[in-house]
Amino acid sequence: MAESSGKPVAVVTGGAQGIGAGIAAALGEAGYAVVVADVLQELAGETACQLAGRSVEVAGVRLDVTSADEWARVMREVDARWGGLDVLVNNAGISPRGTIESTDEALWDQTMAINLKGAWLGIKAALPLLRKRKGTIINIGSTRATRPMPGLFPYVISKAGLYGLTRQVANECLAEGITCNMVAPGWVDTPNERKIQARHGRPDFPAGIRNLTTPEDVGAAVVFLASRHGRKVHGDILYVDSGLHVADDAGM
Ligand code: NAD
Repeated sequence: MAESSGKPVAVVTGGAQGIGAGIAAALGEAGYAVVVADVLQELAGETACQLAGRSVEVAGVRLDVTSADEWARVMREVDARWGGLDVLVNNAGISPRGTIESTDEALWDQTMAINLKGAWLGIKAALPLLRKRKGTIINIGSTRATRPMPGLFPYVISKAGLYGLTRQVANECLAEGITCNMVAPGWVDTPNERKIQARHGRPDFPAGIRNLTTPEDVGAAVVFLASRHGRKVHGDILYVDSGLHVADDAGM
């Protein structure tokens, strides 16, 4: 990573594409230096190049969120360049389909490792840097953390766990002034989500929900939570799902 300009800095996991790329762009536009961290290193580099073309101070790095060693390396690099961390966004995630019976142990373990354990490892590795700046942690959950749906067995449980993690971290970090919240999108229009819907069928959207949420919508929510005003929100869940979580027919 190159020299820093003294801007506040944000790390976005799974930042190479989809919602993560939208979050990285929104933070960059809001004046943050952004680390686009993704297991797909080449794509992370391409996304970082696009942001650099929009005058964002940015680095694209490889990070497998399930690896404590990789988290340690990324945090060493961030500390060396910026001397701390202002915003950690745990966005990397997978959305497998499965039921109680069709889910095998390998799929359960993989889903929990990426969607839940990855966020814990990130928070653990980032805390020393976040302490230097009274930073904030934002976990990207899902409407499904609180509204289960048939066929999303391991996913729903991983996101419910992420909500529990968010509240426990908020509790442990309260005295230190480090905030922790969860942003919960509903269906977000990303290329990978379209591929999943092409394979498994498009869900019936509840009455009244006409527009899919966009990565830009989620990015704007993250920028708010990272802001001075957003720092008054702590241990909470911010749904960005056009009301899916209160719809009568949201898939329960
Ligand atoms: P996506 O598949 O488009 O992007 C996810 C990114 O995470 C990819 O770049 C992938 O390489 C990366 N990733 C996967 N495993 C990783 C690992 N072990 N380490 C580091 N990076 C890894 O997904 P998306 O739709 O943009 O979703 C992003 C987040 O938003 C996920 O946590 C997902 O559960 C959540 N979400 C998505 C939707 C939706 O409709 N798209 C709805 C609600 C919540």
